[in-house]
Amino acid sequence: MDYNDEDSYLMLSGIQHFQFCKRQWALIHIEQQWEENVRTIEGQHLHHKADQPFIREKRGEKLIVRAMPVQSRELKITGICDVVEFIQDPNGVEIEGAKGKFIAYPIEYKRGKPKTDDTDILQLTAQAICLEEMLLCEINKGYMFYNEIKRRVEVPLTTELKNKVRAIAAEMQDYYYRRHTPKVKTGAHCKNCSLQHICLPSLMNKRSVKSYIEGRIFE
Ligand code: SF4
Repeated sequence: MDYNDEDSYLMLSGIQHFQFCKRQWALIHIEQQWEENVRTIEGQHLHHKADQPFIREKRGEKLIVRAMPVQSRELKITGICDVVEFIQDPNGVEIEGAKGKFIAYPIEYKRGKPKTDDTDILQLTAQAICLEEMLLCEINKGYMFYNEIKRRVEVPLTTELKNKVRAIAAEMQDYYYRRHTPKVKTGAHCKNCSLQHICLPSLMNKRSVKSYIEGRIFE
């Protein structure tokens, strides 16, 4: 497999899985295990409006693009931005099909309220890195819209955050190329994990889900 091939890019949304639990990320993105639960269904419902394919909407000085596909050669990731707002600004960049110059801001929709960790922010930062590469510009802020508080929160996208995303993406690539699923390391986060039933912590210490399932089938 050519890992520089765009078809083998990893999913941008995996960054938050990887931050939540590296094993959960590997189960989803390497071993292709997935179990829908209330949390994911709720998330899909909220994303429904944002997921209308590539809708452009003009509001005054603002151009709003929904479900915009993005990718980065540097990070070797691909994904979809819920919403990208392009605001007219003489210091911005030209974009195809629109007059004038624009500065882009990614906006990510989440159910619930702002998290105490930086998983959501890192996903937004990864989107910004993709947009910077695609539009040849610099993006220094974005927004999170939280369903529970029903408003957007401005997020400064610092060099520190961008470098953290670069390091995470490199580690994800390393795991992916080696097809490495980390062993179980349980914690408080496990009770919110959508894969806890198939992760089987007590049984999985030394085995991958794939080898466990194969073992069960042939037992
Ligand atoms: S149950 Fe815990 S260790 Fe297993 S994938 Fe989920 S969070 Fe990770």
